[in-house]
Amino acid sequence: MTIALAVHGGAGPISRADIDPERDAALRTGLAAALDAGYRLLQAGGSALDAVTAAVALLEDDPLFNAGRGADFTLDGTVELEAAIMDGQTQAAGSVTGVSVAKNPVKLARRVMEASPCVMLGFAAADTFARAQGLECVAPDYFFTEQRWQALQQEKARLAAGQESMKHGTVGAVALDSQGRLAAATSTGGRAGKWPGRIGDSPLIGAGTWADQHCAVSATGHGEYFIRAVVAHDIAARLAYAGQTLVEATDSVVNGTLLELGGSGGVIAVDVQGHIATPFNCAAMYRAMVDGEGRRELALYRDEPSEA
Ligand code: ASP
Repeated sequence: MTIALAVHGGAGPISRADIDPERDAALRTGLAAALDAGYRLLQAGGSALDAVTAAVALLEDDPLFNAGRGADFTLDGTVELEAAIMDGQTQAAGSVTGVSVAKNPVKLARRVMEASPCVMLGFAAADTFARAQGLECVAPDYFFTEQRWQALQQEKARLAAGQESMKHGTVGAVALDSQGRLAAATSTGGRAGKWPGRIGDSPLIGAGTWADQHCAVSATGHGEYFIRAVVAHDIAARLAYAGQTLVEATDSVVNGTLLELGGSGGVIAVDVQGHIATPFNCAAMYRAMVDGEGRRELALYRDEPSEA
């Protein structure tokens, strides 16, 4: 029985010096909790879909990560959450954008996949669907954190100075279950200070999220570039059509195509043999994994030995 799981908590130009030891430890605890929750499900024979849903929901609940509670704000100071999920066996997919009431956007994306005729649902209609489905809904202040509010003020100052937005993040998970099924899920608040109505790569099937019979991919980074490079699907296509390995395909896209366009970020990906690849082209990507051979790793920065 081969099972594998990887999770990420975002990527960016973050160095060790930017993060105090307490936050560093809390980020690792959050990643480990999500990894363990998903992995336990897989060990018990659970589905890849359930594993990625559980892992992403925990990261959404953790205010340290830019998804669900603790999400970044739009320029107007509102939250417009986005999430997607995809079942590699059937290529069924569900995604939401512009969500502001569902406590766990990944669960809403899953309902879109399983209980609606749509793949993608947005804004007021997605909120209405969340309520109609009986999903847990929360008041806007649930999502508020002082840290993200301050990040918005910094972003506004950067924008006023004509500088590009730097603050982002996202969470995601990819899994292979004991029946050989793959799944991917991604959830985000998007980029801090984004335009209201701006849609990133995370909820776009094929850009920030993808799963088929070859691999499952969840991305994090500057979404506009991930959309233009159709990152997650391009990785799967390289496996399917070009015979590349997972490491070759993810590296070609993250350190080739994306970099050439000017896009920063990374991906986590798992293939049907349980190989995992986690390349990124910026200073840090928060990541944790257990691959098909049971090898466990957890790391935040580029220059650290991985550790469990
Ligand atoms: N990809 C997300 C977005 O552009 C942000 C991130 O992953 O950092 O919305």
